[in-house]
Amino acid sequence: MSLVEIKDLKVHYPIRSGFLNRVTDKVKAVDGINLNIEAGETYGLVGESGSGKSTTGKSVVGLEKITSGSIKYKGVDITNVSARRNVNYNQSVQMIFQDSLSSLNPRKRVLDIIAEPLRNFQHLSTEEEKIRVLQLLEIVGLSPESLYKYPHQFSGGQRQRIGIARAVATNPELIIADEPVSALDLSVQAQVLNFMKKIQREFGISYLFISHDLGVVRHMCQNIAIMNKGRLVEVGTREDIYDNP
Ligand code: ADP
Ligand code: ADP
Repeated sequence: MSLVEIKDLKVHYPIRSGFLNRVTDKVKAVDGINLNIEAGETYGLVGESGSGKSTTGKSVVGLEKITSGSIKYKGVDITNVSARRNVNYNQSVQMIFQDSLSSLNPRKRVLDIIAEPLRNFQHLSTEEEKIRVLQLLEIVGLSPESLYKYPHQFSGGQRQRIGIARAVATNPELIIADEPVSALDLSVQAQVLNFMKKIQREFGISYLFISHDLGVVRHMCQNIAIMNKGRLVEVGTREDIYDNP
């Protein structure tokens, strides 16, 4: 059994227009894709901007309404939003985004940002929560003083580490990483990628690694799918995709 099984997934967004704001058309953001993610792997989903990668990732984490098809997690159907609101599932699957400055609430302190998923799922005392967040800061290599700072007081690479600390707070099994290094300077990209590999080994995390960057995907992923206009145009191992003439 695969960790995630996506079958004939379609996500179409309605387009509304006119005085009555009626649905007049639709964007077929994801238009019938099949893919399986195995436990422990880093599955690469690559494609140009607008090809439907983020919509696919958000569908798996439960942030997008699915038009048709199915998604199973460890054999359990989580296609319906109500099923995806299941507490265990929400703890097990987390998502990190490209632009951590806009995805981390600028008005919240790092303590509250990282503790948010913990507060949703676990009932810790203030003291227990602070200890846990300090542990998470240590794991991602940030100082204890970070607790009471705000996102804008950090560099891009440090902010991505805050996003990762938040994602690993609930001990997830799967992290959807949507362009996790695209907004970073080249010198910082390698650090964050190595760090993602390190926590993968230590915590047994699987990734759905979304990127427009073929080089980064080749470095990170053994199994890769290439997406174009809502469809998968090539699926295979790294060797299939890169080494075959
Ligand atoms: P990618 O991650 O590959 O850049 P996306 O999944 O973000 O692609 O977008 C796929 C397509 O769906 C694009 O044409 C995009 O404009 C459109 N789209 C994404 N989100 C929405 C939305 N909320 N409403 C309407 N169209 C959307
Ligand atoms: P709301 O907070 O209004 O419920 P959101 O769209 O922020 O709506 O979140 C919808 C669901 O997705 C919630 O169950 C939330 O816990 C979950 N969610 C939001 N962001 C993430 C994330 N980065 N990773 C995993 N789950 C998330």
